[in-house]
Amino acid sequence: MTGTPPTQRVQQLAAELRRLENERDTLLEVARALVTTSEIDQMLPTILEHLITILEPADSGSLLLYDQESGELFYVAAVGLDFEPLKLLRLRPAEGMAGECFISNRSSLYRTAEDVNRAMSNVQPEKRELCRRAMRGLEQPQSAVCAPLIVGDETLGVLSLYNLRKPGSFEANDLTFVEALANLIALAIHTAELTSRQEGLRALEEANRFKSEVIASLAHDMRTPLASIKGYSTALLMEGANFDPQSQREFLEIIDDECDHLTSIIHEMLESSLIEGGQLQLDLQPVILPRLVNAMVEEFKHRSRQHHILVDFPWRFPIVDADPYRIQQVLRNLLDNAIKYSAEGTLITIRGIAHPEEVEISVADQGIGISPEDLNRLFEKFFRVNLASGKYVPGTGLGLPIARAIVEMHGGRIWAESQVGQGTTLYFTLPRTGLSRGLAVEG
Ligand code: ADP
Repeated sequence: MTGTPPTQRVQQLAAELRRLENERDTLLEVARALVTTSEIDQMLPTILEHLITILEPADSGSLLLYDQESGELFYVAAVGLDFEPLKLLRLRPAEGMAGECFISNRSSLYRTAEDVNRAMSNVQPEKRELCRRAMRGLEQPQSAVCAPLIVGDETLGVLSLYNLRKPGSFEANDLTFVEALANLIALAIHTAELTSRQEGLRALEEANRFKSEVIASLAHDMRTPLASIKGYSTALLMEGANFDPQSQREFLEIIDDECDHLTSIIHEMLESSLIEGGQLQLDLQPVILPRLVNAMVEEFKHRSRQHHILVDFPWRFPIVDADPYRIQQVLRNLLDNAIKYSAEGTLITIRGIAHPEEVEISVADQGIGISPEDLNRLFEKFFRVNLASGKYVPGTGLGLPIARAIVEMHGGRIWAESQVGQGTTLYFTLPRTGLSRGLAVEG
């Protein structure tokens, strides 16, 4: 710069300083956006947005990533352009400005409209049309810069910045800066990918741990009845053992009960997988719920005489369209739980209420209750409360999730209310829709 008058020199230096300050601010802004946004899908458009507002020569921009499987570049974000057509656009490496930059692995400047036109000349006509739509009718950008997104020895994609209207907007000295930005973005994408891979691994580990716990707990549940079946049958078969007929009968009854218990565990596991596979079918028919409840309670009274079970339905109760077998299954599970988790001699109330649009059935016990945190997880598969008493109560943690699936398939809801030490009430509703709507049964 010899020969430049001092005032002009000062002006040049001031302009250069402003440019550097602007670049520094842009970098800071972009870095801030990178650290404050963790979701990559949100992060990329936010960064581009920042770039366009701060970086003077650019009025629009886009980010493309390379898809290893298809071997093409696809758009993940764009600003100042219509993103919809770009979602359909995929570029081969070497195709267009971004493709050229990707294949050369170097940042490139397309200073004039001619430079841009030359680089875009190998873009297929239907893709050119998508570009035109993205630029809202404009033929091509008038000036552009592209920089590869490089991490280590891998090129993840391309950052492109454009000026759609003014040729010569970008200069050679913009390249270093755009490269720095591209490096920052590449690093952020790489970090986000690593984080999501790590999260995936963590979720997988958690799922595996959970699976092992479930298998251990099911094995425990199955081993207990098996041990008693084995014990009593061995005793009965023992040579020389001479049990009186009453003891023999008792042993056989225990074996019979434990076989039922095993069957129910296996049944619940099968049911759960049926539901998961979407294979559970309902056979809807008019159901008289008070009658169904009474029949089930009679059956329970034979099995457990230790609880008082009260059935409370109004005299006139609507008939609902439901699958009687499945609703019985829900009720059986709720009653089973009420018995399992409450002391002998306490009261269990099964109540029916008719609302205009639905019926509500509840099973209330006076048992151990459930804490608010556990109440939130009650319908999760395999969830079981750790009992404070440490007492082992058999169960799979599948009963309530199955009940929920059945009720929801009927268009109803299921929920629980509880107070520790006071008791628990489980509610479910069934809609009064279908052919039986308006019908009711008395008595
Ligand atoms: P389980 O086979 O373990 O009974 P469920 O899915 O039917 O499985 O119930 C899940 C868990 O919810 C139970 O293990 C128990 O901890 C808790 N629970 C369910 N019903 C009651 C109740 N009436 N009172 C107290 N706890 C209950």
